[in-house]
Order: sequence, then C-alpha cells, then structure tokens
Amino acid sequence: MKVLFRDALLWDGVGSESRPHMDVLIDGERIADVRPTASSPAERDARQVDLGGAFLMPGLIDMHVHLIWSGSPDPVSVVDADGEQLTAMRAVANAQAQLSSGVTTVRDVGSNWDLAIALARAISRGHVEGPRVVASGRTIIMTGGHDPFWGIPCDGADAVLRGVRTQIYAGAGVIKVAATGGVYGRPEGEEIGQSELSYEELAVAAGEAHRFGLHVAAHALGTQGIADAVRAGIDTIEHCIFLSEEVAAEMKRRGTAMTPTVLIYRTIAEGDGAGIPAYAVEKAKRAVAAHRESVRMALEMGIPIVAGTDAGSCNTPHPSLLREITSLHACGLPRDHALRAATSAAAEALGMSRTLGTVAPGKAADLLVVDGNPLDRLEDLRRLRYVVRAGRFVVGAAGESRCA
Ligand SMILES: [Zn+2]
Repeated sequence: MKVLFRDALLWDGVGSESRPHMDVLIDGERIADVRPTASSPAERDARQVDLGGAFLMPGLIDMHVHLIWSGSPDPVSVVDADGEQLTAMRAVANAQAQLSSGVTTVRDVGSNWDLAIALARAISRGHVEGPRVVASGRTIIMTGGHDPFWGIPCDGADAVLRGVRTQIYAGAGVIKVAATGGVYGRPEGEEIGQSELSYEELAVAAGEAHRFGLHVAAHALGTQGIADAVRAGIDTIEHCIFLSEEVAAEMKRRGTAMTPTVLIYRTIAEGDGAGIPAYAVEKAKRAVAAHRESVRMALEMGIPIVAGTDAGSCNTPHPSLLREITSLHACGLPRDHALRAATSAAAEALGMSRTLGTVAPGKAADLLVVDGNPLDRLEDLRRLRYVVRAGRFVVGAAGESRCA
C-alpha cells in the first residue's frame, strides 16, 4: 500500500532544522520519496494524509532496554517470582507500550532465557505487534560477573568465543558483554570500578561478533574497564560513568559511541524509600557527579552520544525514552542533538543507518507525526498524531492517538 503524507514540517533526523511544506511517500515498508509539496505529483493510487504543516520525523530508537523487566523498584525479584512464561508475556506488553509511545526500534541488552531474541522474532514474523527489537539475549560475563541472572559465565578466550557463537546461533542481533561491575546487578561482591572481562576476552568478543556483522555493547562503568572495552574495539559503551580524558580521545578517534543512560542512575540515586535495594541506591549516589562530568566531556569532544534508558530497570518503566532525551538536554545537548541521539546517531551506533534513523528514500517507513515541534519543545513528543512502523499505522488513522 502507498501512503502520501502531504505538507509536513519535516525533520529528517539529520540536521538541526526542519523544512516546511514537504511530502513523504511511503510504498509498502519503505519510504519511496521525500519532496517539496509544491512539486509533488498526486499519486492517485496512494492514500493521502494531509498533515496541514504538522511535524514529521523518524521513529525513535531506545538503545538500552530490558523488555522482560517490570520497571518496578526491584525487577530481578519480579522475574524470579513470575518465572519464564509470565515474564515472556510481560515482555510483549512492554514492547507494545514502547511502540505506542513512538519508539519504533529498541535494542534489548539483556534478558533471561534469551526471551528478547524470541520476542524480536515473534514481532518480525508478525505474530505480535511491537517495535523492531535488536536483542542480545543472554550476556557474556566472567564467572561471578555483573548481571549473573542472564549472564553466560565465560572465562578465557575460548570460553568467550564459544559464548559469542552461542548467542549468534541463538539469533542475537547484538552481543552484550560486561566489562565492569555495576550498580544494581548483585547485592554483594560487585564493585563499579572493578574490571570484569579482561581486555583479551573483550577483544575476542568484539572480533568474533564483527566477523559475523554484529555490533558489541559493553556494560562499563569504571575507568579501566571502559579503557579496555574501547581498545578492544567494542562499538558502544553502556553507562560510561568514570570516563577519563585519554579514553574519551580514543573513543573520538575510533567513533565509539556512548550510551550514558543518564536517567536510570539519577532515578536509583534518588531512590531512598522508593523500594529500590539499598546497596544500589548507595552505589548510584557515588556515581552521579562523575557521570555528569563524563557526559559533559563526551559532548565537548564530539563523541557520538546515543539515547538509552535501561527501561525495565529500577523505577524506570517502559517507555522512558522521552525522559532520557530531556535528561540529555539537561546535560547540555541542544534539543536537535538530543533528538539525533534517539534517531540518526542511534541508527549509526546500531550499524543500521542504511535502513533506520532518518527520513529519506529507501529507509524503513518508521515515522512519527507530532502535534507541536519537538525541536522547540521536547515534551511535544507526547503529542503523537501518528506512529508508523514499517509503513503500518500503529497509532492514529486506524484508531485514536495515544500519549506516551
Ligand atoms: Zn541495562
């Protein structure tokens, strides 16, 4: 089916400006043409949608989610209580909540039982509605490493190689590794600054994933672990709390992206009395100031910054991307930069910029039509008139518009 959006105020996901009076033609799952309304042919076989100057932009990408997690104060305990089948159904509902809010792609970087890989498949086969899901499934960790509940313990180069191949065989769209300890992962025996997988192990993971065309995301909070991950050729550094200037320069040189997940650490640090485990609150409090400084450094040095929420984690429900975008803006990213972090820059960091992240001929027809102008007011992203995913209207047209 063809759809012709008439007279859009178009932000294509790339620059800082929008263009008025533009038409966007969709043919099936893809964008067929983008052209000025004044010179746009009628396309008699297309459904016409007159936007009357409404804002049109690419669908949003959340680069760091956990679809199986509930967004409650302690989601690990919820998975333990629910078990596999109920957790799978929760993941479907979470994916649909993401899509209804305008998030047309998520990268899921950790799920028990490889559930997010199964969900990615179910969505791509049309069994259930949802955003595109790029999923790691289980993660590559050292024995006793971060997030053991969904980790595959891998010690030494051979074990890491086997772990990465296991996930490729399972159908992973990205490989996730744990380079350091974390904040919420384990009640005891885990420290933010402690390096976990070694440089050699990280390099094996990156080399093997790249050989099969997959990108690698590293959970890395401490300085040495970040340095090892960057040097090993990891594609995106998740959280990246204690970044040094030297490593920041190396990230800039290599084009390594940073997924700072600003919101989740603030949420946990402010989580006294909110039911979040006390050990996590205490660790997050120690991280927040350094984290702000790392984002500032990344911004100043021109490191690619992408928007990831850790949605599903402590008190951070699906969806939370708008709150991460506004958090990035509060960290100093201009609005257009913060929006690129959730569109074109995110697609680049996914290795999917040929198909996602911008409004251009040949790209996937993942589009939002918004009342208002997010380049002037980010909160306008709540005012969704249409959400289109691979050429299909998932919000608006066939039903009522819903809000984030
Ligand atoms: Zn996470």
